[in-house]
Amino acid sequence: MSVITIERKILERNEQLGQQNREWLARHGIRALNLLSSPGSGKTTLIEKTLERLGGRMKIAVIEGDVHTSLDAERVDRYGVPVAQIVTQGGCHLEARLVQQAMDKLDLTGIQLLLIENVGNLVCPANYDLGENLKVIVLSTTEGEDKPLKYAGMFRNASLLLISKMDLLPYLHFDLAALRRNALQINPALRVFEVAATTGQGMEAWCGWLEEFVAGRP
Ligand code: MG
Ligand code: ZN
Repeated sequence: MSVITIERKILERNEQLGQQNREWLARHGIRALNLLSSPGSGKTTLIEKTLERLGGRMKIAVIEGDVHTSLDAERVDRYGVPVAQIVTQGGCHLEARLVQQAMDKLDLTGIQLLLIENVGNLVCPANYDLGENLKVIVLSTTEGEDKPLKYAGMFRNASLLLISKMDLLPYLHFDLAALRRNALQINPALRVFEVAATTGQGMEAWCGWLEEFVAGRP
């Protein structure tokens, strides 16, 4: 069917551009992460708190992906780092082409870490390589512990799982052990961190991991 052919062509083209992005980033000594989650998991807050902690220790740039508005880029902009907003105008995922355009607009001189905040969606972003080194899933304690089973494609492709909003745990019926079990069942190699950006819980471990990542270790 023609629809399938067109979709395959789009994905093939995306893969080529993703590879171009990855090569460009590698040539310029920049390590990149693709942050994935459903809407409202706390990705932007996590980025803000990460910039607060690591801003003085490494040079970071941010690309924000949203369906509408540049609200997230405005929040990140307050930290004085290079930031670009991609507005997809209804598109439910970022594509390598859009990230390439955003990279073109940014001054990435001396940048060591590029954080790409994808559109909030646990389905199709898994299929679009942006040229990142690794995918990171942010899943908050206000979501269900069954998410890894429901969105297995995403969890299979990711290297890291950040369980966010850990400070809310006492108020929720959320089975943390079950989430870990489900996530590791889908992807046994997944590294799991528990964080609460607002209280700072687990942020030192996450930032420590980022320093290792920028040094090229994981
Ligand atoms: Mg956001
Ligand atoms: Zn999509």
